[in-house]
Amino acid sequence: MSSVLQVAVIGSGPSGFYAAEALLRGHADCRVDVFERLCTPHGLVRYGVAPDHQKLKQVAAVFDGVAKDARLRMFAGVDVGRQVTIAELRARYHAVVVATGSPVGRRLGVPNETLPQVHSSASFVSWYNGHPDHAALTPELGGGTAVVVGNGNVALDVCRLLVRPYDELRSSDIPEPMLPAFRRRGIRQVHLVGRSGVNATKFTFKEFRQLVEQSDLRVELPQATGWPESAWAGAGSDDAARVAQWLREHAARTASDGDGPRVSLWFHAAPQAFCGEGALTGVRLAPTAPGADVPAELACELAVTCIGYERQPLPGLPEPSRPGPLPHRAGQVIDADGVEVPGLYVAGWAKRGPTGIIGTNRADSYETVQTLLAALPELMVRPLAADEPVHALLDARGVWPLSYADWLQIDRWERSRGAELGKPREKAISRDDVDAALGISTAIAEAQ
Ligand code: NAP
Repeated sequence: MSSVLQVAVIGSGPSGFYAAEALLRGHADCRVDVFERLCTPHGLVRYGVAPDHQKLKQVAAVFDGVAKDARLRMFAGVDVGRQVTIAELRARYHAVVVATGSPVGRRLGVPNETLPQVHSSASFVSWYNGHPDHAALTPELGGGTAVVVGNGNVALDVCRLLVRPYDELRSSDIPEPMLPAFRRRGIRQVHLVGRSGVNATKFTFKEFRQLVEQSDLRVELPQATGWPESAWAGAGSDDAARVAQWLREHAARTASDGDGPRVSLWFHAAPQAFCGEGALTGVRLAPTAPGADVPAELACELAVTCIGYERQPLPGLPEPSRPGPLPHRAGQVIDADGVEVPGLYVAGWAKRGPTGIIGTNRADSYETVQTLLAALPELMVRPLAADEPVHALLDARGVWPLSYADWLQIDRWERSRGAELGKPREKAISRDDVDAALGISTAIAEAQ
């Protein structure tokens, strides 16, 4: 029986890497194998954080530091649930930590949500970040007006990307195949639509200011005339109060002057349907509060819903009856009867839902690992199928994972392509890009 604690972490985003860090720090005698479906690691940092927020992306250096530990191995390009099952992992590791995030866009559930130019933030944000699953999206940015639904930071990111001057986006890490859509962009007006009040937004003030204080932007609050005192105060967080205060002070500065793009903020407005036959022509709205002055319809050619995310169910997990995070007790997964599943843990957005900044995942993952390490005596007596280690199993199935050393090589390739283009990196999107970065010729790649 092995005396080394062997843990599989599924997902190489922030929660996966923080869980790995906590394990490596918390238990000298352990080995951590991080499984990743894509060929490249870092999840939300690479594919969720806005491409013009490079400072936030620098947290990837922390993950590089964690991966330097010889006790960590990465298996990228392995689809857990399809190429190797949860049961097969649980038979080979004392513990499995699910850190797969919440990659699916929540749906409004209103008519015509599937019209071609209605996108969820999950696909739109992933598209401009070069996520291979969404690279084929063709959002039409050439129209004049967009509606962005939601009053959270993702809605701010999307809105900013829709109005930020092209020259500034050019030097972000939006990949070259996606940039022409921004160059041809014709958007002059964005309607930012929230179902709650001006006093209850989910924006953080810093991110809000970054948008509304863009020098050429005209910000408009079409409904504000005559709002009672109570509309401005009280309901939300400190950030919400500061946002409301800013809007109150600037509401008078209507969008009459200048020729920059205009952002109009609508509150207490809930989408009822997307309009158009074959092509999007508008969003129908209804008020969510008595007397709210909400237009019946906002005309637009593009709509992006930024209303949160759902977890992708993973075969082999005790899935809850309704979509949402995996039920758990301090990070240990529990089944439908509320009973803890031995050796099965969860961290990050898969555990608590799509909330918080990247750093929030650190405390979250550390809590999960603390629970895991407290169960060491029971975990270490779980018999493992050591006769067929996971790499042999994958090898027999024709699955050849990429290692962290491979990623570092891809990273260097991306940075050097980026340097030639005056940007931080030019991302590898397709498998061909990955092979080129690794110097794998087509013939060898095909043989694999
Ligand atoms: P969020 O902050 O939870 O905002 C979601 C928004 O969607 C809310 O305004 C919510 O309205 C609205 N909404 C939800 N369901 C809706 C429905 N059925 N109809 C209409 N509106 C609906 O989520 P997020 O913007 O996706 O961000 C996720 C997390 O990542 C947040 O914690 C965020 O702060 C973080 N994040 C941080 C940064 C950064 O720090 N730069 C950037 C991006 C994201 P209600 O308020 O009325 O519920």
